[in-house]
Amino acid sequence: MVIPRRYRKLQQVLSKRQPDLTVITEDVHKPHNLSAIIRTCDAVGVFEVNAVNSKSEMPTYSQVAVGSEKWVKLNTYPNIKDAIANLQQSNFKVYAAHLSQEALDYRTIDYTQPTAILLGAEKHGVSQLAADLSDGHIIIPMLGMVQSLNVSVAAAVVLFEAQRQRLAAGMYDSMSLDSDMFNKVIFEWAYPEIAAICRQKGEAYPALGEEGEIL
Ligand code: SAM
Repeated sequence: MVIPRRYRKLQQVLSKRQPDLTVITEDVHKPHNLSAIIRTCDAVGVFEVNAVNSKSEMPTYSQVAVGSEKWVKLNTYPNIKDAIANLQQSNFKVYAAHLSQEALDYRTIDYTQPTAILLGAEKHGVSQLAADLSDGHIIIPMLGMVQSLNVSVAAAVVLFEAQRQRLAAGMYDSMSLDSDMFNKVIFEWAYPEIAAICRQKGEAYPALGEEGEIL
C-alpha cells in the first residue's frame, strides 16, 4: 500500500496539473533533450506532452528525466499535422518557438489561455509545415554570439513564463483536472503495477480511500 504521506504528495502535485498547457516536440530525438523537457514540464505542472516522431519509433529517456516521465503523460504522433490539428480542435493556440521574422517576444503571449508550445528539432528547428500551421511564432531574444538555445533550455524559459502568469492568475489554486481523470491518474501514480494489470484485464481501477488505501 502507498504510504499516506506519499499519497498526499501525489494528490497535491496532481491537483496542480494544468491540462490546458502543453508542449509539442517536433522530432526532438536526443533522449537527454526530451528527458530534460519532460523534467521541466513536471516542475511547471504540465499534465501531458506531445512528441512527434516522424523519423523514429518511441522516444527514449535518459537519466536527465530522473523518473519525471512517470508523472507527465507522453502522447506520440507520427506527424506534426495531426499533433497540431488535435490540439487546435481542443481550442489550444499553438505557438511555435521559431526564429522567424514574424516571431513575437515570448513574454507578450497570454499563457493563461489553452496553450501548446511547439519546439523544433535540434538541428533543423521547426519545420516549414509546422510554422505555417501554428497560430503564431515566439522568440526568446538572443543578444549573444550564438543564434539559438538548446531546445530544452528554450522550453524551460517559455514554460516558466507560462507558470509565472498562471501563478499570478491563481490557476494553481484550484484543480483543473476533472474528477474522473484525477481518480484515474492518482490510481496509476499510486499503484502503477496494479493499474497495468487492470488495464490488461480490461477492468476498472479499484476505488481508493482517504489515505490512498485500496477499498
Ligand atoms: N538551427 C535551428 C533553427 O534555425 O531553428 C536551431 C534549432 S534550436 C537548437 C532547437 C529549437 O529550440 C528550436 O527549433 C526552437 O524551438 C527552440 N529555440 C532555441 N532557441 C530559441 C530562441 N531563441 N527562441 C525561440 N525558440 C528557440
